[in-house]
Amino acid sequence: MRLDKLLAHNGFGSRKDAKRIIKSRVVLVNEIIVVDPAFKVNIQKDIVNVDDEIIKYKEEVYYMLNKPSGYICSHEESLYPSVLQLIDDFRTDLIIVGRLDVDTEGLLLITSDGKFSHQIAHGNKNVYKKYYVELEKEFDLNYIKDLESGITLDDTLLKPAKVELLDNKALLLSISEGKFHQVKRMMHYCNNEVLYLRREQIGNLSIDENLDIGQYRELSEAEIKSLY
Ligand code: URA
Repeated sequence: MRLDKLLAHNGFGSRKDAKRIIKSRVVLVNEIIVVDPAFKVNIQKDIVNVDDEIIKYKEEVYYMLNKPSGYICSHEESLYPSVLQLIDDFRTDLIIVGRLDVDTEGLLLITSDGKFSHQIAHGNKNVYKKYYVELEKEFDLNYIKDLESGITLDDTLLKPAKVELLDNKALLLSISEGKFHQVKRMMHYCNNEVLYLRREQIGNLSIDENLDIGQYRELSEAEIKSLY
């Protein structure tokens, strides 16, 4: 693996940042200063030091992103940029865990770990995803019973949802599936329309309130375990 890529994967910023660090002569491979960002490192054998810190290659990465509106959950860019542009990681094996619509904000997980991604997106069906929903009109309380016992959309019976009313035009909706435009279609069923949608929580993991929209951070070991 290239030396600049190794550093970028290990929290030293972008590839550009990593190149700058390497050029500043603080990176040693097997105790010899290396100034070539393209230097090939054998991640099994070579010992890489930056400012006396030993750098170990991370097998897998796990990020939480506070997704902004205007970005798509896809590797292919179309009318909109991909959410991956917001992540300063040049790994080519990153997976976007589940999909949020282009105009939806909030908690999005991005990882290199296929098993982890599958588990969250398709595995444990009891993992609830909680959404904050703002509505066009006053929410008709008569629909709560339907939503909480499971409504049918396009011949598919949905699992029971949980509804927490915040005010007459805003609520928290928790669902354990991730069907196409599910929240918007559920609100349409309730004779209403979604004006704003943000994912707040996946299972026990809430969006980090210190992350501004568009910012991301790595998940802690405890957070990763809590999602399995
Ligand atoms: N439901 C929707 O309608 N959109 C999303 O982005 C996520 C859930």
